[in-house]
Amino acid sequence: MKFLCAHECSGEHHLIIDDSENLSRVVISRITNIIESGAKPILVNENLAVQALNSALFNQQELEVVQKKIEVRDLETFGRCEVDNVVDRVFVTMKSDEPIKRQLFERCKKLRIPINTINSSELSSFTMLSTYKKGDFQLGVTTTHQSCKLANRLKREIVQKLPENLDQIVSNIGNLKRRIQFIDSEDEDILDDVKDVKRPRWLSQIIEYYPLSKLADISISDLTDAYANMPVVEQQHATKQGRISLVGSGPGSLSMLTVGALHEIYNADLILADKLVPQQIIDIIPKKTEVFIARKFPGNAENAQQELLNIGIENLQRGKHIVRLKQGDPYIFGRGGEEYNFFASHGYKPVVMPGLTSALVAPVVATVPTTHRDVSDQVLVCTGTGKKGKLPDLPVFQSNRTVVFLMSLGKMVDILPLLYDRKWPTDLPVCVVERASCPDQRLIRTRLGDLIDVLKAVESRPPGLLVTGYSCEVLCKLDNGQKYRIEEGYHETHVRTSLHDIIGVLSEDKLPK
Ligand code: SAH
Repeated sequence: MKFLCAHECSGEHHLIIDDSENLSRVVISRITNIIESGAKPILVNENLAVQALNSALFNQQELEVVQKKIEVRDLETFGRCEVDNVVDRVFVTMKSDEPIKRQLFERCKKLRIPINTINSSELSSFTMLSTYKKGDFQLGVTTTHQSCKLANRLKREIVQKLPENLDQIVSNIGNLKRRIQFIDSEDEDILDDVKDVKRPRWLSQIIEYYPLSKLADISISDLTDAYANMPVVEQQHATKQGRISLVGSGPGSLSMLTVGALHEIYNADLILADKLVPQQIIDIIPKKTEVFIARKFPGNAENAQQELLNIGIENLQRGKHIVRLKQGDPYIFGRGGEEYNFFASHGYKPVVMPGLTSALVAPVVATVPTTHRDVSDQVLVCTGTGKKGKLPDLPVFQSNRTVVFLMSLGKMVDILPLLYDRKWPTDLPVCVVERASCPDQRLIRTRLGDLIDVLKAVESRPPGLLVTGYSCEVLCKLDNGQKYRIEEGYHETHVRTSLHDIIGVLSEDKLPK
């Protein structure tokens, strides 16, 4: 395993071994990086023309140039004399294919000096990264010696997709983390009523679920406000009639948002969103529209739900158009029915707009046909989380059925024994689907009996669900003897949708007469 180059090298001596007559772009960039990292670059090159040096961008204090043929023992003479003369890092940029390259590599290995030889992963103990830095955010991309140009391009593409305020996001979250760990007097009052153990969990939930761009504005009171006593909203006589719609946002991909949902989002005054509503959907909310995201953290779900409903009623009474945006479909484990009753009982009957549920999208993106002739003629959607965290009543095994378990992956250790009691076979093919239809979607194909081990081996990427049944191996099988297989990413190659496309399709001149 190669290690990636970390750049905090104050006082170190880094050797660049080159053989070109001019300072190439690669060498210049190595020298610049070394200087930026705080180390001293020493360039050894017997061929370097004097005029190349004269026109060099570096002065003598910054760069030491040694015009000689490199020898292996130079590794032990150009280092810091106050330490042991051994250099701290070596970069070989020589084009010629001389045996000295291997000798340098072997010697570096012996002396435990990290070495990078250009275009040779075989003669390198670490890989160069194409880096990006904004504030405390740092990104390093490598193609492991395949192509640094490609690494650069990939870095640019990745950076372009990240929120612009990434530096603020990083420093805000770091700040919150420290304030939670070492509460000072300023925060004592705010955090008083929150148990120690819960605070880090809340923060990690926020980091996991909130739209990235919003993380820069999260404050310590956002972590706690939801615990304060909620004001009871009295029903007042409304002068202007507000209206509310319960809208399903689909599982993540913009291409799975319904036209009706898009229309509602575009015409809302206030959007009350679940924390699970995917980033891609939050991103298309017009800037002028007010958005409130539910502050649901472990142990705080009820308060957060009440808070959201209260805000809804307050704004309806002011005559606003509220969109209660819910992930997937509002009536599939989305408390849509309860919310319908709540708003209706306050005099505001919601319009309910369905969304594509993750329960049915996940099998599709995992290449699992939920029904398939002679394999499965039933689909069951169930939950692994019952009321008050208890386990629900679980289904008896039926071989002709595809069962999708939502809210269950974290509880599999408790769920599996109950399934085995209900005659579920250990060799049943299953597929874990995480972040279905999102760019960071992950599929894990395995069998029921191996599921616990596999889940332990990979870090979870919520939200995720489990698809079970023989339908899981109709179109995609594990190889012989393979315990599990991971497939990363969701590629909408044919249906990649942007808001621009949708609006383009809906534009007046394309609509039928
Ligand atoms: N109303 C939602 C479900 C809400 S319950 C719907 O119809 O999709 C929340 C659970 O849904 C999560 O615990 C997870 O099991 C599942 N889930 C939601 N979105 C998902 C996604 N994009 N990929 C995989 N599972 C998802």
